[in-house]
Amino acid sequence: MPQAKFLQLAIPVPLRQLFTYAIPDALLEHSFTVGERVVAPFGHRHVIGIVMAIVDECEFAPNKIKAITNIIEHDQCIPQALIKLLTTCASYYHHPIGDVFHQALPVLLRQVEPPSIAPIIAWQCLPKTEDNAEVLSKLDNKRSKKQWQLYQLLSHHQQLTWPEIRTLGFNKAQLSALENKQLIASVEQLATPFQWHDDALNQENEFTLSTEQAVVVSAISQSIGQYSCHLIDGITGSGKTEVYLQSMTKVLSHHQQVLVLVPEIGLTPQTLSRFEQRFNVPIFLHHSGLNDKERLATWQNANQNNAAIIIGTRSAVFSPLPKLGLIIVDEEHDASFKQQDSFRYHGRDVAIIRAKQLNIPIILGSATPSFESLHNAIKQRYHYHQLTKRAAGSRQAKVSLLDVSNQTLQAGLSLPLKKAISQTLERGEQVLIFLNRRGYSPAINCQECHWVAECTRCQCPYTLHRGQGLLICHHCGSQKRVPAQCDSCGSVRIKPIGQGTEQIEEYLAQTFAQYSTVRIDRDSTRRKGELNKLLQQVLNKEHQILIGTQMLAKGHHFPDVTLVAMLDIDGALFSFDYRAPENMAQLIVQVAGRAGRASKPGKVLVQTQYPQHPLLQDLVNNGYQHFAKQGLNERQMAFLPPFGYQALVRADANYPSYPEKFLRQIATVNFSDCELAGPMPAAIEKRAGKYRFHLLLQAKTRQALHQGVTQVLQSLTNNEWQSKVRWSIDIDPIELSW
Ligand code: ADP
Ligand code: ZN
Ligand code: ZN
Repeated sequence: MPQAKFLQLAIPVPLRQLFTYAIPDALLEHSFTVGERVVAPFGHRHVIGIVMAIVDECEFAPNKIKAITNIIEHDQCIPQALIKLLTTCASYYHHPIGDVFHQALPVLLRQVEPPSIAPIIAWQCLPKTEDNAEVLSKLDNKRSKKQWQLYQLLSHHQQLTWPEIRTLGFNKAQLSALENKQLIASVEQLATPFQWHDDALNQENEFTLSTEQAVVVSAISQSIGQYSCHLIDGITGSGKTEVYLQSMTKVLSHHQQVLVLVPEIGLTPQTLSRFEQRFNVPIFLHHSGLNDKERLATWQNANQNNAAIIIGTRSAVFSPLPKLGLIIVDEEHDASFKQQDSFRYHGRDVAIIRAKQLNIPIILGSATPSFESLHNAIKQRYHYHQLTKRAAGSRQAKVSLLDVSNQTLQAGLSLPLKKAISQTLERGEQVLIFLNRRGYSPAINCQECHWVAECTRCQCPYTLHRGQGLLICHHCGSQKRVPAQCDSCGSVRIKPIGQGTEQIEEYLAQTFAQYSTVRIDRDSTRRKGELNKLLQQVLNKEHQILIGTQMLAKGHHFPDVTLVAMLDIDGALFSFDYRAPENMAQLIVQVAGRAGRASKPGKVLVQTQYPQHPLLQDLVNNGYQHFAKQGLNERQMAFLPPFGYQALVRADANYPSYPEKFLRQIATVNFSDCELAGPMPAAIEKRAGKYRFHLLLQAKTRQALHQGVTQVLQSLTNNEWQSKVRWSIDIDPIELSW
C-alpha cells in the first residue's frame, strides 16, 4: 500500500498561505503531480485547489486535517514554469497565492465542474470547383464586398478561427453567406501540436530593413535562448512592428512560441492582419472580447503547444506556453498593463520576470517609453535601440503651443484654433480634436446660488450627458435625470460648466455645418463593432472632423488628418501626482503620432493657459527623450520611482474614521528602512459611498520595501480595525489618486 501523503494546495481565498489536505483512501493509488487541480472542501463550499507540493509529513494532528474530495480526470495540469511564475508574482506583489492562481487562470478552469476540452471552430475555403468558381465570380461586386474580402482572407490561410475572423472585422452573417454558397466550411480545429511546414513563414513579403531596424533584429536574433531585454524607442511609424515581425520569424523558425502583449484597445484589425499575412501558423487571441469558452480554448491550445503565437492584453502574460521563445510588449508605457484592482500586477513587469525565468529575450516597444524603462536602458540593464526615422517616408507631426491665456473661448476652443480648423477643412483635409473627457460637461451648476449637482455617494460633481438626458457619476456610475430646477434654491437657471467631447461635437457640428463630424469615445462606441465601423468611416473620409478621447491616442493612424488640436491638458502641469507630466508628454506625443503622411505632414496645436511652463517648453523644443531625462533627474532628487520604491496601502469603509484609524495603527510599526507618507484621504475621498484613505511606504531599495510590506502584513493580526475596513496593497503603484 502506498504511503499516505499530504497535499499542499493553493486555494482561492484571500489568505497568504497554502493549505494542507489529506488524500482519501480512494485516491491513494492516484499519482499526484504539482500543478494538478483537485476539489477540496473549504468552509461550507467545495473549491478548486491547485497542488503546489506533495509532502510526507504534516504538522497538524490527523483529525484536524480535511481530505480532498476529488481529482479532475484527464486534467491539463498547470505547467511547472507557470507555477513558478505565479509563485514569484504572489511574493513580489504580496498577494494571496490562491487568488493569484484564481485570477491568472480562465474562469472555466476555476470551476469544480470539469470543463470539457473546448473544440475550436475554424473556417477554411472549400476546394475550387466549376460550380463555386461561378458563384465566386458573382461575389466580386459592391454589395458583397465584405464577403469577397473574407473569402480572400480565408484563401490565404489554411484555417482561421471565429475569434480571429471577428477581430478582423467580419461577422457571422458574412460567414454564413459564404457557407451557404458552398465556398467555405467550418471544421473543428485539430487539437494537435501544430506541425511546422515550409510555408509557415511568408518571408517574401518582408521589407528590406533600414539600418536602424536591421541592427535591432540582429541583436535580438543573437539573444535567442538567453535572457535579454530590448527597449525599442521608436517614433510612431518608425517600423517597430516590422522589427517585431522579423524577430518573431527568427524565433518561430526555431519552432518556438511567441507571446505578444498589447494594451487594452491595441489590437486593431490592421495589426492582426499584419500578423496573419506574415505567419501561416496558429495564432490565438486573448482579450476581453472573448467569451469564457473561447478563453479556455485559447488556454488549452497554448498549453498543448497547438498555438504558435498568442496575441493578447495584460492577462495573456499568464498563458501557458511550453515552448515560449520570445515575448513582445508593444506600447510598453501604457497604463492598461497594470491591473488596478485585487491582484495589482503589471503585465510588462511580469513579462520581464517571465523572460528571466525562462531565459528568453523580451522586446519592449514604444514611441514614448516609460521613465522606468528608459532608466533601465540608461543603466544598461536593457539594450537600448532607437528608431528615429519614419519607415514609410512620412514625417512626424510638429507640436506647437497655442497660448489661450488672453483668449475668450467658445466651447473650449480659441479663435486661432477655429481659424486653423477652418483652413484645414477648406484644403479638404481632416481635423482631430482631442479632449480626454467624455460627456457634455463635467458639472452643472445653478447660476443663482452656485449649487453644483453632486453624486452623494462620491461627493463629486455629476457629468452631464445631454444626449441621454442624464447626469452620470464617472466615479461610481450612478445616474439620475437632469433636474429642471436647482435642488437648493429652486431656480431654473441651471447651466453646464466646462466641456466634454459631446459639447465640442455639438459646437463643431453647428459651426462647420457643411462638414461631417464624428465623436469617438467610450459612449459612442459601446456597441460591438461600432469602433471599427467609425474608424473605417474616418479612413474613407466620410467625416472631416473627429472628436475623441484617449481611445484615439492608441494604435490607429489617420493619414489624412493634418491638424490635431489638444484641449485641456493644463491640469497635468499642476497635479499632485508625480507621474502626471510623464503621462501628459506621452499623450501629446502619441496623439501627434496619429496624424499625417509623407505628402501631408501633420501639425499639432496644444491649447494652454501656460505656454511658458518649463515642462511644456521642454517637450516642444527638446522632444520626449530630453523631457524624460529631465523628469528622471527630478525623480532622482526626490527618491521617487525608479530611484525609490513604493507600496501603497489602501483602505476604505462606510465611515471615514475606520480606514484612517486602521492605517494609523499600521503607521505605528517601527519600520527600519521605510518612510511613510500618510495616512491621508485619497484624492477622491469618497467614492461609491466609501471613504478612502492611503498610506504610502517608500524605500531606497526593493528589499527594504518588501521588508516593510512584510511588517505591515504582520502587524495586521493585532489591528483591531482590520475587520471594519476593506484594504489592499499595491506594489509599484502607478495610480496614486484612488
Ligand atoms: P511602428 O510599429 O513603429 O508604428 P510600423 O512597423 O507599423 O511602425 O511601420 C510603419 C509603416 O512603415 C508600415 O506601413 C510598414 O509597413 C512600413 N515599413 C516598416 N518597415 C519598413 C521598411 N524597412 N521598409 C519599408 N517600409 C517599412
Ligand atoms: Zn440655486
Ligand atoms: Zn458617484
